[in-house]
Formats: sequence, structure tokens, C-alpha cells
Amino acid sequence: MPHNRNMYCLIEDRISEAGPDPAFVMADGSVVTYAQLGANVGQMANALAATGVKPGDRVTVQVEKSLPNAVLYLACMKAGAVFNPLNSGYTSAELDYFLGDAQPTLLVCQRSSLAVLAPIAGKHAVKATLLLEPDGTGSLVDLSKTQPNEHTTHVCAADDLASLIYTSGTTGRSKGAMITHGNLASNTEALCATWRITSSDILLHTLPIFHVHGLFVALNTTLSQGARILWQPKFDLDTALRLLPEATLMMGVPTFYTRLLSSAAFGRETCRNIRLFVSGSAPLLAETHVEFKDRTGHAILERYGMTETGMITSNPYASDGRLAGTVGYPLPGISVRIAEPDGKVLGAKEIGVIEVKGPNVFKGYWRNPEKTKAEFRADGYFITGDLGTIEPDGRLSIVGRAKDLIITGGLNVYPKEIEDELNAFPGVGEAAVVGIPHPDFGEGVIAVLAKAAGADGERIETEPQIIEQLAGRLAKFKCPKRIFIVDELPRNAMGKVQKAELRARYGQTFK
Ligand code: AMP
Repeated sequence: MPHNRNMYCLIEDRISEAGPDPAFVMADGSVVTYAQLGANVGQMANALAATGVKPGDRVTVQVEKSLPNAVLYLACMKAGAVFNPLNSGYTSAELDYFLGDAQPTLLVCQRSSLAVLAPIAGKHAVKATLLLEPDGTGSLVDLSKTQPNEHTTHVCAADDLASLIYTSGTTGRSKGAMITHGNLASNTEALCATWRITSSDILLHTLPIFHVHGLFVALNTTLSQGARILWQPKFDLDTALRLLPEATLMMGVPTFYTRLLSSAAFGRETCRNIRLFVSGSAPLLAETHVEFKDRTGHAILERYGMTETGMITSNPYASDGRLAGTVGYPLPGISVRIAEPDGKVLGAKEIGVIEVKGPNVFKGYWRNPEKTKAEFRADGYFITGDLGTIEPDGRLSIVGRAKDLIITGGLNVYPKEIEDELNAFPGVGEAAVVGIPHPDFGEGVIAVLAKAAGADGERIETEPQIIEQLAGRLAKFKCPKRIFIVDELPRNAMGKVQKAELRARYGQTFK
């Protein structure tokens, strides 16, 4: 019998050992034990088979977060099917593209989207459609309940597909990233070791599960160790404040941490049992890191990753090694380097594109060999599209996305440098700096400032006052020519600032 590299094996081992222990504590306080989880996953895997899903087939899922949604993810792995989660915010044109591209055997959706999805599924010959509602009911669950608990875990090779995840596609069409069982298993093991996750951990889970962070990072690490998950449909400040004292671990996007800080009730007492706060998916402002440490005594551990690669780097576990504004060192088994667009590898402290190689790196873009070829170097490194710099000791800092680099009058401007300056101004919650068309310079630098959260937020100074002060600190070509003040920056579901949206909104400024 070949060694089974199915990612689900790492979780199944815990299910047999941790049987009566809680795996999930639901929002209403009810408990799902590891034994029950194992039975539910087995039933769901059989339901997939009963619907005609075979190993390698895609199961496209566009539903709100619920426990059966997580069970479906695990069941797809167990059955050797390919889990393809979609953000619930997609429009019908996007869904048409995804279903045509992924060609799933089974579509799982909510009754509320059936009118839109049924004709699209028909057009793309999707064999079956089942329902899963936000409250965890629906025809998928009904079918599952009639099935036996036992299902033999499909034997997989490390490079068999476990999941197909469409990238957020901020430029051009989103592409399906093919994530293998080996990618997930290696990343799970690296993260569990680095973050010291054990069966004693209790994770507050408030992230969505259509994305790498809440799906793979949060679920695979905890379930593979027999830890407990406080399962919440989404991040809600009051609920987080109520549940955090029971938790040892929280994983979040930076906006979760700024929202916690906006509450006067949040402090050391709330975090009395916490062992580790992890942040990622978008940059954590150095100010947030510092304020959080002052308020709670905890240094948030920032890590860096992306859909195509899982997690790449992490700040060290030792809390004095967690440096604000950096994303730490490559995880075990992963190599990171900085290169120029033509592939020339750069030295320490030089800014260039981050490239990564290791067992975490995805297999390629689904049915898109040209795009796959374009994003890999001949020696196997994946070109992330993020700009960064590495210290001589290997510590990585991110400077921004390559596509957000501003070239004004032929000179490079890295938005982060200007954003860091602006974030330090009184009353500024977060700054976003973008380049927009400019008749003389090609691109002109502008800044959009969001007011700090909280009623006692200080007033932001006026545009001329800020520009005058920046002029003393930044070279003239880097200084924003215009500054706009807004209540909130546009963000996607993972808290990332949508710079393309800002470029569109302010694009006519210099016309
Ligand atoms: P996604 O594929 O949606 O997970 O987005 C991945 C992108 O998020 C990366 O390529 C980075 O641009 C960004 N990202 C993830 N983690 C961080 C971080 N800690 N700091 C800055 N950017 C991050």
C-alpha cells in the first residue's frame, strides 16, 4: 500500500485519538466532538459519491460560512475531490466564468442564489446542484444524514489536487490556483511547528472559509493537532470580546485587530488566556502592532502568504523577535529571494520582486499553462508579484505589490514609504498611496487618508498642512500632489485595501 499523502490523513489521525474532545464549539454553545466530526465527514464523503462526484472532480461551493461548509471541505479531501470555494459576493457574470472554467460535477449553493445559478449551472452541464443554507440545513445535509459514517479515505499522491481557489483577480481575470494535498500538508506541518499549536489550543475562528487564511491556515493547523475551535460565522466585535477570554489563539486580518483596539473594553483581561495572535492577508500597520502591545502585552505575530503559495514567512515565535512592519523569516523548507523583473537575483536590502520555492508552492493555474509558465522561473521559483527586501539575516519586509509601484517622472515611488509617514499623522487611521495618470509625470502620487476609528479620534490636519510637513521629510517626487480624506478605505473581504478602486475613483484628478 503506498503511503497516503491525502491531507485529510493528518486530521483523521486526530479524530481517532481525540474522539470525545470538542472540535467545534458553536455560536450557541453546543459542542461537536472530534468523533462526531469524523462521522459527519464520512457521511458527507458518501453523499458526494452518491451524487456522482469522483476523485479529481471539482465541487464548487458558494455559500455562507457554516459548520457543514467546513465538513464539506474535509469530505472533499477525504473523497479525493477538489474543493472549489467561491466568495459569496461574486456577480452572475463572474459565476458564469468560474463554473465554465472549473467545470464542477457538483455545485453547492444557497436557495437565495438558485435563480441566478441554476441557468449558469445548466449552461455548463454541471451534473448536480445541492443546497446548503447559512443555518446549516439544506438538501446537501439531508442527503448526508442518510449516509453511512464509514468512507475509505482516498489514496492521494502529494501532487494530487485538493482545492482550486480563484485568486482575488484585482487585475484581469482571476485564475484558478491548483492547490495539492502536499502543499496543504507541508504548510500545516511548518505552521504547527512554528506557532507551536497543540491539542491544548482554543482558536477563535471568525475568518471566512472561502479563502486560504480561514480555510487552510486556521482549520488545518488546529484540526491536525486536536485543538478546539470557537466557531463564529463572522467577526463581530462584541462576540469577539466575549469569547476571547476563553481562547488561547486568534488568527485575523489587520482590521480585526484595529476593531478590537477601537473598543475601550478590550485590554489585558480580555486576553488573559491568549497564547498567540496571528495577523496576515494584508499589511499590519506598525502603529497597530505597537498600540496592541501597549494595551494587551501581546506582540501580534505577522505572517505573509498568498493563495498560490500558502504561508511563506512568519515572524518568530519568541515574542521579542516579532518586529512590527516585517513578515519574518521563511517557514521551514521554503526558500525566498528578491529579484528584478528580468530574473536577476538581488542582494540583501535591495528592493525587488519576492520569489518563492518550496513544497508549499501550488501546482499551477488551472487549464492555463501559459500563465503558469509566465509566473515561474526556470529554476522553479514562483514570482509572487509582491515587492520586498531581505535583511542580511534573512528577515523579509514587504514594500507593496509590484503593480502598485508608482513611476513618476521616471522615478520609482514605493507607496509603503509614504504610507508609513502618513500613518503617523494625528487622526489618520490608515493611508493609501496610489499613482494616477498625470500629464507631465506619467503618474502622479496621491494619498487617500481614512480617519482613525473611535469617537476620540483626533482631527486630521488639512491637505496643505500635511503636504507642507511631508515636504520636509520626503523627496519632492515622492510627496503626494493631492490628499483626500475619507471615512473608510475600500477593502475586500480579507481587509485588503482595493487600490484599483482608488485609482479608478481619483483617476481624473490631474486631467
Ligand atoms: P491572497 O492570495 O488573497 O491571500 O492575497 C495574497 C496577497 O496578500 C499577497 O500577495 C500580499 O500582497 C498580501 N499579503 C498577505 N499577507 C501580507 C502581509 N502580512 N503583509 C502585507 N501583505 C500581505
